[in-house]
Amino acid sequence: MEHLFGPVPSRRLGRSIGINNVTPKHCTYACIYCQLGRAVHVETDRREFYRPELLIGEAQQRIRDVYSRGETIDYLTIVPDGEPTLDLHLEELICGLQETGIPVAVITNGSLLGSPDVRRALLGAQWVSIKVDAASTAVWKKIDRPHKLLDHTRLLRGAELFAAEYTAREGTFLATETMLIGDMNTSEAELSSIARFVGSLQPDAAYLSIPTRPPAESFAIPAGEAALARAYHVFSEHTSRVEHLTGYEGDEFSATGVAIDDLMSITAVHPMRKEAVEALLQRDGSSFDVVQGLLEAQALLCTEYDGHTYYVRKFRDRQMGR
Ligand code: SF4
Repeated sequence: MEHLFGPVPSRRLGRSIGINNVTPKHCTYACIYCQLGRAVHVETDRREFYRPELLIGEAQQRIRDVYSRGETIDYLTIVPDGEPTLDLHLEELICGLQETGIPVAVITNGSLLGSPDVRRALLGAQWVSIKVDAASTAVWKKIDRPHKLLDHTRLLRGAELFAAEYTAREGTFLATETMLIGDMNTSEAELSSIARFVGSLQPDAAYLSIPTRPPAESFAIPAGEAALARAYHVFSEHTSRVEHLTGYEGDEFSATGVAIDDLMSITAVHPMRKEAVEALLQRDGSSFDVVQGLLEAQALLCTEYDGHTYYVRKFRDRQMGR
C-alpha cells in the first residue's frame, strides 16, 4: 500500500507531497459526489490505521529523494482517500512531520471537529481546509450523507471553536471548501446561510468547487456557471478572498499583454464583472472582440446577477485539483 504520493502541483499548496494516513475509503461521510464511489466504509470512531513513525519515516525518505533531484517541496499534505481525522495518531503524525521543517497541511471534511482532541491535533498544522457543503441539517444529510452518530450542531460549533483558536495563531492558513451541487445547495437561502457561516469562521480563503470527476451518485450534478457566479457574489459579501477551485493551476492574474490568456486564467478562478474585463482589455491593448470570440467558442459564458454582467470560464471537462 502506497502511503505517499507526489510531489504534485496544486494551486493552493504549490508542490505538495500527499500522505495517506487512513486506509482508502474509510470516512465519516458518504458524499453523493465522492470520487471514491459508493463503497465507502462510514465510521466515526477514531483509531489507529498506521503507526505514525512508519509514515514519518517514509516522508523523510521521500523528502531526501526529492531534494537529491534538486526539486522543491512546499507542503506535506495529509489528504487520504477518506477522512484524515479518523486517525487516532493525527497529532503525533503532524508533530513528527513538522520536524522535517516543511509546513504541514490537512484537508478534512470537518465532521469530527466537535471533538476537542481533533481540534487540538489540527492546531499543529500550518494549513487546514475544512469542508462546508451545507448550513442546514437537511442539506448536509442529503449531500454529505453523514454517519448517523454525527451531530450537525456539534460539528458547526466545533468548527467555530477551532477556527477562533486557529486563526488567532501566527503563521496559520485556514481555508474552507464548498462543493456546489446543482439543485442541492445552490438555492439563494442555502447559499446565504453557508456564506454567513463560512464568514463567521474568518477563513483566509473560501474555495468553491464542483464535482469534475465521476461522482458516487449520478444525480450529483455540478452547479452551473450561473450558480457559481451567484455563489461567488454571495460568499464575497462575507469573506474577502473567495476563489473557484476548478483545477486551474496557474496563478498569474496580472495583465500579461495576452488578453486571451489573462481572461481564461482569471475567469477560471472567479467570475469577472464586465467593467473588470473592459479594464483588463484596455491594459492588454485589446478590444472586446476577444471576449466575443471566447463566447462564440463557448470557452467563456456570460451571466447576469444582481444587475451586473459576469463572465465565467466554462467548467465542464476540466479536472479539479485538491
Ligand atoms: S468527505 Fe471526502 S472522502 Fe469522505 S465521502 Fe465525502 S468526498 Fe468522499
